[in-house]
Amino acid sequence: MNLADLQALERRYLMQTYRRAPVEFVRGEGALLWDSEGREYLDFLAGISVCSVGHCHPAVVAAVREQAGRLMHVSNLFYTEPMVRLAERLSESSLGGRVFLTNSGTEANECAIKIARKKAHLRGVENPEIVSFERDFHGRTYGALAATPKLAENPALGPMLPGFRAVPFDHAGALREAVYENTAAVMIEPIQGESGIYPLSEETLLAARQACDETGALLIFDEIQTGVGRTGSLWAYEQTPVRPDLLTSAKALGGGLPIGACIAAGELGEVLEAGDHGSTFAGGAVVSAAALAVLELVDDPALLRRVRELGAGLRESLLEIDGVVEVRGRGLMLGVGLSEGIDAAEVAAALLRDGLIVNVPEPGTLRLLPPLTVDPAQVERAVALIAASLLGTYPDR
Ligand code: PLP
Repeated sequence: MNLADLQALERRYLMQTYRRAPVEFVRGEGALLWDSEGREYLDFLAGISVCSVGHCHPAVVAAVREQAGRLMHVSNLFYTEPMVRLAERLSESSLGGRVFLTNSGTEANECAIKIARKKAHLRGVENPEIVSFERDFHGRTYGALAATPKLAENPALGPMLPGFRAVPFDHAGALREAVYENTAAVMIEPIQGESGIYPLSEETLLAARQACDETGALLIFDEIQTGVGRTGSLWAYEQTPVRPDLLTSAKALGGGLPIGACIAAGELGEVLEAGDHGSTFAGGAVVSAAALAVLELVDDPALLRRVRELGAGLRESLLEIDGVVEVRGRGLMLGVGLSEGIDAAEVAAALLRDGLIVNVPEPGTLRLLPPLTVDPAQVERAVALIAASLLGTYPDR
């Protein structure tokens, strides 16, 4: 089937909720993808920070093949070893408490919201509130959506879940004022991803931790995009002065398969009891085996150091390009701010034609989320392509 036929079929049979680029991918290996016409692309988006160990990493493929051939699914009414081992590994590598496994990021956040609300009820709060930042992105199911202020404004999707409030991004004072005894949780992306790669300042993170400690609210870190090595530590919070009470993960965790997790600190793992929460697929044996293989690869000091070094080098090289005004983020999670007047979407489209995949989270920003296993020569190639594209798209600059 050619691309035009595929596009026609997609328009006929898939709900039109996405604007897809006109490319059909058929194969991936490491940081490379190939389309249906045999063209090669360097993938600096990695399925939106999902394929962090690269496409079809042999260790992940082997784990999936092995598990899929033995046992795929029995439901959460029984035990399987990959599920329990994964929970152990996630807990021991982070907050130390119990884990609820999910099928996606938004579901991981639903679990965190449920824990926070129940915990607030347990201390006598009748109308618990969750505070997040403007332009935060926490997902698209109704709880997570309510904590995603920009999308929650859409009246056609209302009514929204009550009990959510947003404060200006990175405004420590506004956050402190918004958190009071009815606050169930402060929900934070340590680095905003979908809105353009904007890190929270240490001052705000410390203010959030302090406000939560003073009021009994929980501090939730949504590490769905920042986690699993993306910023150069297994979890982004490790490079900040604060430790959250709940941490959510997804995206890269499954190496390309859908899995998420809500990890609790200490006693918070006891808040949800039998009947409070559940999911048929969650913690399935195949996705859990894949996640264990991913963590084995990523939870490695040498790989994490490499992410920090490659990220620092990439940032420096990008800043030397004419048309780049700033580079935000940490590790291999970078937002490239372009000079005023440059349309990032136009640049990204040109880059795609040149064989480099990047994404545009907001009009003036290119978002780079390459696989953590990308090699230095590929990083150099990406920088050269971005420089050439900016020059080619805006030759008069
Ligand atoms: N939270 C953050 C920070 C995200 O970046 C995303 C997805 O982009 C989500 C939550 C939602 O994850 P999912 O799309 O797996 O539901």
